[in-house]
Parts: sequence; structure tokens; C-alpha cells
Amino acid sequence: MSQQAQYDSQAINQMDKDHHLHPWQIFDVFREEGALAIARGEGCYIYDTDGKRYFDSVGGLWCNNIGLGRKEMAEAIAAQAYEMSYASPFVDLTNVPAAKLAAKLAELAPGPLNHVFFTCGGSTAVDTAFRMIHYYQNCRGKHEKKHIISRMNSYHGSTYAAMSIGGKPGDHPPEFEYISDTIHHLSYPNYYRCAADGQSETEFVDALVKEFEDKIAELGADKVAAFFAEPIMGAGGVIVAPEGYLKRMYEVCKQNDILFVADEVVTAFGRLGHWFASESEFGIVPDMITSAKGLTSGYQPLGALLFSDEIWDVLNEEDSGRCFAHGFTYSGHPVACAAALKNIEILEKEKLLENVMEVGPYFEQQLKTLEDLPIVGQVRGRKFMVCVEYVANKETKALFPEEQDIGKRVSNHADELGLITRAIVHLNVMSPPLTMSKADVDFVVSTLRKSIELTIEDLKQEGLL
Ligand code: PMP
Repeated sequence: MSQQAQYDSQAINQMDKDHHLHPWQIFDVFREEGALAIARGEGCYIYDTDGKRYFDSVGGLWCNNIGLGRKEMAEAIAAQAYEMSYASPFVDLTNVPAAKLAAKLAELAPGPLNHVFFTCGGSTAVDTAFRMIHYYQNCRGKHEKKHIISRMNSYHGSTYAAMSIGGKPGDHPPEFEYISDTIHHLSYPNYYRCAADGQSETEFVDALVKEFEDKIAELGADKVAAFFAEPIMGAGGVIVAPEGYLKRMYEVCKQNDILFVADEVVTAFGRLGHWFASESEFGIVPDMITSAKGLTSGYQPLGALLFSDEIWDVLNEEDSGRCFAHGFTYSGHPVACAAALKNIEILEKEKLLENVMEVGPYFEQQLKTLEDLPIVGQVRGRKFMVCVEYVANKETKALFPEEQDIGKRVSNHADELGLITRAIVHLNVMSPPLTMSKADVDFVVSTLRKSIELTIEDLKQEGLL
């Protein structure tokens, strides 16, 4: 363990406040409160600049799969930076880690997904998918196939195209512009919130599939290029669709010559106990998979778009004179690829996917016990990807007014008790490192219970409950 460094927390916060625009910065709140500065990490724990320790149940941002502060990762990164810190990936140059990682990903991915395009993260993987879809359809002579269908409340990243594909209303404020003529959003499969009174899960899925078929009929199947879906919606509130939904949406795609893009930026590399969740957890083999986050466990920024032999064969058609004019200076960055290779080696060597299979159901089961609390409407998710939804009334499922920021109230108490959870309006989401043990689960669940109980007391004192 490294010695706790001495930091001037106040000076760091001031520099940050004055010069650092944060992703999703809420200006009025940030101006008053600033940010919690994190100085170091070890395993599942992070330490702020005053040395206070927290269990990070969010795994950074759904990305810290192997845990923080690993010496072997630092060594692999340093060794690669020394050997070859950068080599252009353009046209006819490559580097050793990029070639090895592409082959390793092809080995781990479902059957025909044997080809990889490296990006800087998840958003650029989604953006690359978006451009490759158009390129592929045009190469096939399907020039009209331009429309993209995704779901409300989905999150696919923060570039112009990725944000337009995403469907979280909160991420679409009117001050920004979005692609709206060729991108369409269907209802999302949240049975708890969106099913009609008395509607069974099967009827709910039937209605969602019909909505998809109707949208295709309205646009014309010859005009729809692709469907994007996270196997489990993450930032949109950890939505696990009812049984059979994903497979039926996939079948509709196949019947209509529509590419199925599984956005596995969160769900891959072990979060659900598999290298990729689409096939192993949901029984589908997508045409494309976007990934990032757990690919390096956040030790380096890297994303990867995996795509099928069928798409490759069109791009790679002999004597077509084609050139896929797309790429980033840091595509296949050697240091990032070396980090990914070491990360995958650790996931394999320490059997962390197996740990998720063993501890995941215990985590789900223990968290479920929180449903006895008067403001917990639903605990949902799978294995190491879970969330708690708060309600003002359990019978009617009525939410607290947004300005009461209920998720934040709970996570503020959790912070004080040494637990980091992520508040998204009326939710707390968790995606811990895959090293989490059953004893860690007990700490997380009991601390969250305490934090919710303290929040209930506050709400009562303020006359809000
Ligand atoms: N897709 C999904 C499903 C995500 O959850 C995210 C990030 N949370 C992204 C894409 C974008 O990834 P990045 O932030 O690495 O660009």
C-alpha cells in the first residue's frame, strides 16, 4: 500500500472549481458545493484528498472491473509506454498489443464477431458503429437504409450521434441539438413502471414487439438500417426487460434485414458473469457489439467495436476499391491495448467471472431485503449491475418530486458512512468491482439500509413523508 499522500484539499477544490468543467456539471449546485476530490484507490476502495476511505459500489463509472491500484497493471502500462508509447494505427501500420488484443477479443466474442475496430471509449465505439452501418448499407446498394431505431431512456454515449441515439429525456435539454430525422425511439421495457394495469409480462412484451413492428412498417423495412440496445439498460435505471423481450426484438431485426447492435459498454467483461452478455445471458448473437469500460477496467481509455464476418465480407470485397475512411489518432493505442490484455489476463487468472456468478445472486438477494423499507419501491438488476428505486408511495408507485433529489439524499448519507453509490434522480445504482466478496455485500447492503433509514428520518422531520 502506498503512503497516504498529503494534499491541500481546499486548493485542489478551488483549482477544480475555477477551471474544470465536469461532464454533466449542474452549475448552480457545483458553484456552491464543488466536487469530492479522490486521491487514490485500492481494490474496491477509494480515498479522498483528506484520506477518508469509501467502498466504491459504483466501480468508478461501471468500469472498474478488476479493482483499483493493481501493481501488475501499472507495470504492464509502464513497460508498454517504455517499449512503444505510440504508433499510428492508420492505413498500413499496426502495433503488437493492438494485433494481440484484436485476436483475443475475436476469441472471446460470440461466433461470427471476428473483427474489431478500436476507439477511444464507448461513445466513439457507438459513433463508429453508426458510421459503419451507413457505409455497410451503402456498399450493399441499400442507399435508403438510413434510419436507426433505439429506445427511450437508453444511454449510448456523448458524441453527437451517440447522444442522438440515446433516449434519456434528461440528456436531451433544448439547448443542445440532436439528429432527429433518422433516429427514432421506442418505449423502453420497464415492466415495473410502464406496464398497463393488469398487463402480464407476456402482454407487455407483445406490445413492445408490436410497437417495433409498427415503426418498421411506418418507415418501411427498406429504410431501417439498425436497432441499438443495451442488453440491460444502465444509466436509464438498470432496466432488465421481461423474459424473451430481447430475443423477440432480435428476431424482428432478422426478419427485416435490420442490423442488431448490442451496446455492451457496461455489460461486457464480466459484469454479468460473461465476457459478453448478449449470447451467454440473453441468447442472441448481435451483428455488432460496442464495448469499453471493463475492457481495461478504466486503467486506460479504450473502446472496441466488434462486428460480424458478414459485415466484414461486404467491407472487404475484393477489387471494390473501398476504404473505410474513419479512425482516431488513438485507435488501437498500444498502451491502452496492453492494459486491456493484462486486464483480461487478470479476469481469467483470478476467475472473476466465476466470482460474479457466485456472489451476484447473493448481492441481488440481500439487496432485495431493502424492499421492506417504506420508500423502496423496487430493487432490480442482475448480478453486479443493480439499482434501488425510491417511491413516495409504495401502493401507487408515485415518485418524490424531482427537486427533492431523493437518490442524492440517500447517497449523501452513504458518503458519510463510507459508501459511494451513484444517484440518478430517484435511483441509486451500483456496479461494484468484480472482486467484491459476500462480506463486502453485507457491508454495502447494511450501509445502504442505514442511509435510507436516515433519509426517511430527514423526510419526516421536514414534513415530506
Ligand atoms: N454506452 C453505454 C451503454 C454506456 O453506459 C456508456 C457510458 N456510460 C457509453 C456507451 C459511453 O461510453 P464512454 O463514456 O466511454 O464514451
